[in-house]
Amino acid sequence: SQPVQPGIESKMEPLPVQPLNYKGSGKLKGRTALITGGDSGIGRAVAIAYAKEGANIGIGYLNEDEDAQQTKAFVEDEGVKGLLLPGDVSDEATCQSIIEKTVAEFGQLDILVNVAGIQFVRNDIEDITAEQWHETFSTNIDSIFYLSKYAMKYLKQGSAIINTTSVNPYMGKPELIDYTSTKGAIVGFTRSLAQSVASKGIRVNMVAPGPIWTPLIPATFDEESVGNFGLEVPMGRPGQPADLAGSYVLLASDEGAYITGQCIHINGGQVMHS
Ligand code: NAD
Repeated sequence: SQPVQPGIESKMEPLPVQPLNYKGSGKLKGRTALITGGDSGIGRAVAIAYAKEGANIGIGYLNEDEDAQQTKAFVEDEGVKGLLLPGDVSDEATCQSIIEKTVAEFGQLDILVNVAGIQFVRNDIEDITAEQWHETFSTNIDSIFYLSKYAMKYLKQGSAIINTTSVNPYMGKPELIDYTSTKGAIVGFTRSLAQSVASKGIRVNMVAPGPIWTPLIPATFDEESVGNFGLEVPMGRPGQPADLAGSYVLLASDEGAYITGQCIHINGGQVMHS
């Protein structure tokens, strides 16, 4: 097991950060997946799990650094191809280009996984600027619209889109007003698009993580919140990216063939309604 996060005092027990013990069985063999946010946290866990299931992977991410290279190395260790796709997904042209590059490399696109997202602590509406509001919306939901739109001409019977919402729109989150609003928009988008493309055999679903220990958490919250992160949920611990990987695989694979417009909640028992 690896340290939870270097330099962060936490009451949490260290747990493995990567789903390295995830056992694939070829459920996504011959498919191509594009995963935004694939260099970090939840997206990286999904990329590795999909690679273990045999899929070639396009790895979307924002900043050039070692993390994306590392994900590519993890993916290619599984004997499939990894393609690095840097770029800001809040930009429409970038989204179109990421889709086209994936298809140019692999000849197809079967699975689009939207994980990229940002959040900032903003709990006083009078202090939130229009610019901040739009930045969060353009990164967290406009991107999903653009990528889904440009992916659609390549997706076919059996293809899947999986979006990443959050537990927050299901319970409210006073310190993350703009973020939580974007995640609520993802719920409406997912359900509507699912119904719109169902007759083509394309499925659209979402995962709603509760508190998951990733680099986003110490980057967002103060030391006290980080120390207590996830301890309030009934299971008494935050989730790890590895706790989510299997659900993203289910929603992408033929085992999920009759699941569309749905949300899998993964939150240690924090919220229990849909
Ligand atoms: P993370 O910070 O580890 O990863 C975020 C990823 O998004 C990074 O790969 C980054 O490159 C990418 N990204 C951010 N802005 C981008 C942009 N403009 N263009 C392209 N890529 C961009 O965070 P994480 O915790 O793994 O979060 C992943 C997703 O899960 C986010 O959508 C987040 O809202 C959601 N989520 C996380 C939690 C949690 O507790 N960690 C809970 C609920 C939902």
